Amino acid sequence: MNIVLLGAPGAGKGTQAAKLVEEFGTPHISTGDMLRAAVKAGTELGKKAKSFMDAGDLVPDDVIIGLVTERLGEPDTEKGFILDGFPRTSAQAVALDAELSKLGRPLSAALLIDVDSEVIVKRLTSRRMCKDCGFIGSEANEQCPKCGGEMYQRDDDNEATVRNRLDVYEKSTSPLIDYYRGCDLLVSIDGDRDPNVVYADVKKALEL
Ligand SMILES: [Zn+2]
Repeated sequence: MNIVLLGAPGAGKGTQAAKLVEEFGTPHISTGDMLRAAVKAGTELGKKAKSFMDAGDLVPDDVIIGLVTERLGEPDTEKGFILDGFPRTSAQAVALDAELSKLGRPLSAALLIDVDSEVIVKRLTSRRMCKDCGFIGSEANEQCPKCGGEMYQRDDDNEATVRNRLDVYEKSTSPLIDYYRGCDLLVSIDGDRDPNVVYADVKKALEL
């Protein structure tokens, strides 16, 4: 499976990726994690990326594409990969297609975990985290069920911030979704259900 994972923050993308990784051992390639790792390791690309990040600028497409291409050259991706956090724009999607066709490993699907934004607002704003152990629960948890610690709401889980994140996501991702639909690669799964039910559908749709 050579897939690109799409979905709003809070849609459950990470949960589905973790299930695929656990069952199939497919590498989960998160560009956010890779950027942080490259910067830490001080690679050429990492240094380049850091100069943009330090200036508060977005890391340009060619740097990210360089990172992804480098990563896809590693042998563990030969049987497949799950790309997460990239591409973010249709220009990046076109560049990715070009790189993958050079490697002779075209995408098999763009998997969208689709959840209505009002459902996501509810999910994220009712999320509470344990001050002591980081356990993620909901507003129903007055105390942490794991350690008894105090539960609090993260700053970026307040409603205004969540709505802003969703707006940003929608604006940048809608063209991407249209792009993959046009290539006949889009697989859209209703993510507003139990994660195991969603996962069963994901496997069926990807013919796994
Ligand atoms: Zn706790």
